[in-house]
Amino acid sequence: MSAPEVESNCDVLIVGAGVAGLSLATALGHQGFKVRVIDGAPRPERPADGRDMADWDLRVSALTPASINFLTELGAWQGIPADRTGRYHCMQVWDAQGTGSIRFDAEAVQAPFLGHIVENRLTLQALLQCADQCAGVEVMWGQGLESMTHTEAGWEIACSTGHRYCAPLTVGADGARSRVRALTAMPTRQWSYDQNAIVGTVALESGHMNTCWQAFLDTGPLALLPLADPEKVAIVWSLDEAEHERIASLPDEAFLRALNHALGQDAPAAAVLGPRASFPLRQAHAVEYIDQGLVLVADAAHSIHPLAGQGINLGLSDVRVLAGELVSGKANGLLASDPVLLKRYQRQRKTENLAMMAAMEAFKRGFGTQNPVAVLARNIGLNVVDQQSWMKRWFMEQALS
Ligand SMILES: Cc1cc2nc3c(=O)[nH]c(=O)nc-3n(C[C@H](O)[C@H](O)[C@H](O)COP(=O)(O)OP(=O)(O)OC[C@H]3O[C@@H](n4cnc5c(N)ncnc54)[C@H](O)[C@@H]3O)c2cc1C
Repeated sequence: MSAPEVESNCDVLIVGAGVAGLSLATALGHQGFKVRVIDGAPRPERPADGRDMADWDLRVSALTPASINFLTELGAWQGIPADRTGRYHCMQVWDAQGTGSIRFDAEAVQAPFLGHIVENRLTLQALLQCADQCAGVEVMWGQGLESMTHTEAGWEIACSTGHRYCAPLTVGADGARSRVRALTAMPTRQWSYDQNAIVGTVALESGHMNTCWQAFLDTGPLALLPLADPEKVAIVWSLDEAEHERIASLPDEAFLRALNHALGQDAPAAAVLGPRASFPLRQAHAVEYIDQGLVLVADAAHSIHPLAGQGINLGLSDVRVLAGELVSGKANGLLASDPVLLKRYQRQRKTENLAMMAAMEAFKRGFGTQNPVAVLARNIGLNVVDQQSWMKRWFMEQALS
């Protein structure tokens, strides 16, 4: 039997229908591009809209106002039920080994809010609806990428189903363990944080007060992220590997006690525990985001520690910049694969992503030490920033942009 014909009737081929892949497809589809998206997973089911402990997605994201504006432009934000997003106005951060703390308040920068906590599957579902309604976009599920060959017409892609595709530009939006990045041998600097994150849904004894709570412990940061239900939060508890093994294996009652012990007196106490799961944490950064006819976006290009909740926000910024370059190139008669466009994208995004990754690394190292001098210095540092309103404003403006 002969191999199936290569389908090459699109401008851009995106591997990965996560938040990054679907937002890029929608942004380009709205501007008249023909886009095909392939994903190895089956099409996600419509999420349940119940409010019991087990009805909340374990993976949530703190979306910044900039990300929300972009999702609104795409028409996706409107598709996320408003009673399902946790709008937060404050962020309380403290050092569990000392007395340092800092509180960020939206009022201080005349902003209506600092961000929204949104379940990933709702963002994904809303984007999928937008992509489905876009005439030029075709999303194909159950088609895992198997191999890639460079040809004059672009990268030829073979899928697990035997289908083969080719387009002038291929985009790797296939997440932190990007197969596109591996198959095209794009050099990547990566290392393990030697930490795992426990994520889960927790009901509090009192309300969350529309505040994000983040404790820095010597074993890793612990965050409580306010859900749309005023008494429920999502936890993201990053722990060094040995400690993770001990905590993750505790039965529910003992886990709750350990969680409350870690939170101390500075946050509302946890009362009921819902489902929980663990993820290994790795830092990875592709040395180059681009190659001939190829570009990486979001986690496929860079994955970072979840301690500042910036992962998907950086990814959406990549998408916004790349889509902007491709659209302006199209208006000037350039092909989507034009190296000038791809270089411009890389230049803009690499600097910002590297700066954020360096900041996360410094935070992680700074709070991972028990050296008494370092503990004293960082506690003084937190208190100084907390007392200097101009410094706090500066930090917040960075986080909101
Ligand atoms: C514990 C934890 C907590 C986090 N908290 C936050 C937070 O608060 N805020 C925040 O902004 N970010 C957070 N993040 C990060 C955020 O989840 C990621 O940055 C985001 O999901 C990346 O989106 P993406 O579209 O790049 O990749 P993904 O969401 O990983 O999507 C990749 C897609 O590619 C598909 N795929 C993979 N391989 C193949 C293949 N070979 N062929 C075809 N398709 C393939 C997958 O099926 C998937 O649909 C957190 C991450 C973790 C682990």
